[in-house]
Amino acid sequence: MNQNKVQELENWDKEYVWHPFTQMKHYQKSKPLIIEKGEGSYLYDIEGKKYLDGYASLWVNVHGHNIPELNEALTNQVNKVAHSTLLGSANVPSILLAKKLAEITPGNLCKVFYSDTGSASVEIALKIAYQYWKNIDKDKYKKKNTFISLDDAYHGDTIGSVSVGGMDLYHRIFKPLLFNRISLPSPHTYRMSEDGDEEAVKNFCLQKLESLLQEKADEVAGLIMEPLVQGAAGIITHPDGFLKGVERLCRQYNVLLICDEVAVGFGRTGTMFACEQEDVVPDIMCIGKGITGGYMPLAATITSEKVFDAFLGEKEEHKTFYHGHTYTGNQLSCSVALRNIQLMEETSLIEKVQANVLFVKEKLEGLYNLEIVGDIRQRGLMIGIEIVKDKKSKEVFPIQEHKLDDIVAAAKEKGLIVRQLDQVLTFIPVLAMSQSELEEAIKIIYQSILENI
Ligand SMILES: *Cc1c(COP(=O)(O)O)cnc(C)c1O
Repeated sequence: MNQNKVQELENWDKEYVWHPFTQMKHYQKSKPLIIEKGEGSYLYDIEGKKYLDGYASLWVNVHGHNIPELNEALTNQVNKVAHSTLLGSANVPSILLAKKLAEITPGNLCKVFYSDTGSASVEIALKIAYQYWKNIDKDKYKKKNTFISLDDAYHGDTIGSVSVGGMDLYHRIFKPLLFNRISLPSPHTYRMSEDGDEEAVKNFCLQKLESLLQEKADEVAGLIMEPLVQGAAGIITHPDGFLKGVERLCRQYNVLLICDEVAVGFGRTGTMFACEQEDVVPDIMCIGKGITGGYMPLAATITSEKVFDAFLGEKEEHKTFYHGHTYTGNQLSCSVALRNIQLMEETSLIEKVQANVLFVKEKLEGLYNLEIVGDIRQRGLMIGIEIVKDKKSKEVFPIQEHKLDDIVAAAKEKGLIVRQLDQVLTFIPVLAMSQSELEEAIKIIYQSILENI
């Protein structure tokens, strides 16, 4: 693209586009990164510079960019029909995808409610869980009106999903608009234990949950959590057995378990779904992000038969789930999602990811030599590198020092897109990224931190 055109687009971007999670005052002073095309693990900007996608285009990309099989699925579908409504009618790709999702999700999860963002899939899960108890027995369960969620939880940006969120930085300002939640400490070993004793942290949090439930289970409709790792909270990896312990307590105290697999689903933690690793079957599961391989917006809330059955009744009983979005079950999204899952199977992607997880783990060890790397947390191909001013005290750099901004900018200069969450540098590569690309990315991360000590 010629320099005039580049300049024009940069100006128009600053003039007309309001970017999410972005302080626009700073943005307007910076040179925007404007992407023009993608190929495999790389993105190209409008000046032709290429970058490894170490952020999987916000944790969504599975096979890479511009994948012939996925392109074909979309063009085939668009030549038939792009969209018709799921309200009062059905369509072919949404049926085939729902059947596939029922087959690949854990246990008896089998009823698929479509939406288009992870946040919406969480709203839907919360509304289903709330109404579930009212549909069963509205007198007996009249107090079951609240939810338990973890500290630092992130479940999306709509008011309902923010209500069950616990990230002070993003959520504090909206407090007066939110409904109440009950908060559970998140088992964050690095911050909770001097000597990294995972077992003690796990037991502490599970005991806390048990005493909450003993006291308040009759007020709790459901518990919502991300299984195995809290992504947006800064890749907080949970101790083994925590998820299983939560499931056991939810069952014991008659509270629905909602697992938000929006970030961790579709191979990200080394299994198709994170719940599988602890043999856990939630009552309701939320999926999004990787579902279409990073091609189209699509999400779904999947429930067990038991939950679904509570919504069956005569029209006049008003057990109907009165919820739906305009683009629910969109054909283009569903067809590319189905092809994405088939392609994962055809290329044995999960097995490849498992090998790459070990490869990455070994390569990351070297980062501990850097004096500002406090902790490296990894679950599958979700990696968080916590940057601290002092390894011993775990003190972080003050926000005014822009430490992480500088590291991220250095990586971009060297051809790698990564992002920070507060004091945590996050590396979430395209899921199918090759070992040589992963190695290159980790070298760039090392250099970028080294230059900013
Ligand atoms: C990204 C994310 C969401 C929200 O999904 P959107 O598509 O951005 O609305 C919800 N839960 C988790 C765990 C996420 O990572």
